[in-house]
Amino acid sequence: MNSKPKILIIYTGGTIGMIENPETKGLQPFDFTHLIDNVPKIKMLDYEIGNIQFEPPIDSANMSPQHWCNIAKAIEDNIDVYDGFVVLHGTDTMAYTASALSFMLENLQKPVIITGSQLPIGEVRTDGEENLITALQIAAATDINGEPMVQEVAILFENHLWRGNRSSKMSANNFDAFKSHNYPALAKIGLDIEFNEDALFRTNTKRPLQVHYNMDTNVLFVEIFPGISDSTLRHMLSTPGVKGIVLKTYGAGNAPSNDVFTHTIAEAVERGIVIVNVTQCVNGAVDSSLYDTGSTLSRSGVISGHDLTSEAAITKLMHLFGMGLPASSVKKYMEYSICGEATI
Ligand code: ASP
Repeated sequence: MNSKPKILIIYTGGTIGMIENPETKGLQPFDFTHLIDNVPKIKMLDYEIGNIQFEPPIDSANMSPQHWCNIAKAIEDNIDVYDGFVVLHGTDTMAYTASALSFMLENLQKPVIITGSQLPIGEVRTDGEENLITALQIAAATDINGEPMVQEVAILFENHLWRGNRSSKMSANNFDAFKSHNYPALAKIGLDIEFNEDALFRTNTKRPLQVHYNMDTNVLFVEIFPGISDSTLRHMLSTPGVKGIVLKTYGAGNAPSNDVFTHTIAEAVERGIVIVNVTQCVNGAVDSSLYDTGSTLSRSGVISGHDLTSEAAITKLMHLFGMGLPASSVKKYMEYSICGEATI
């Protein structure tokens, strides 16, 4: 006899569970009971649902690596008890959390579905109810062998399921707020949930979940723009303690090729800083052989981030340095896809 699917909801906060503060009129996170009371349809699913709530629930603008560890710990503690996990999270930093968790949860073989909403669950036109119900159904979905259909960290929003470490928040207003520009949807949500089985990630190991809690935050984004001054660039690259930099460049990975710029970058690489080149474009990849302005960077020792999202690039650096790896190994793994985050 099949038992009911067991799903753990980890409620971190975000708009989905917010209510209006009567004094300031601003939205602030509220508790889980309020959230679930607004979704009576959950009972129709006939699942066993457990829950863990962040105390207090937070706006995801306040998310930090310590919070990622709390989510990872909740999953680790319950990995054998539940069939799947639904993380309710604010949309603002959802793609960072999804990327970070994908690196932290090594050998994950169960679904971790992150969702939230643009309108609070208590609002008449909320998208939260549908997102929560669909996320639960995806977390409970199995294939013909009874194995979890999704065995990775994914973001469910409106009509699509996206790989977590390939996703970015695209809209502050639309219900269809997330997209993965360099990887197909893992599932399309319509009348049915249509999984794209070829796109789903599978580990080639049966080893148990191993959680990597250390995230080294000595990392930085440096986004170039026409007119960026030499002194600004030098200052950023000389930030005390910095070990890894995600350099956000133009197009296929191009940056100014003048001597001062090139020298400043090369000098930072010589000091042992790992600099990863990602494009400012939402779609496409770094190809440093295409233009002189790109190959100058790679000759200076900057490594290619290929088609990594910024969110995946920065959290991957945090993870690799957090593992205590030397710069040479960090560089090697940055050019290797650990859990489907890049097309290499
Ligand atoms: N500021 C909110 C958050 O990220 C926005 C949202 O949830 O959509 O927590």
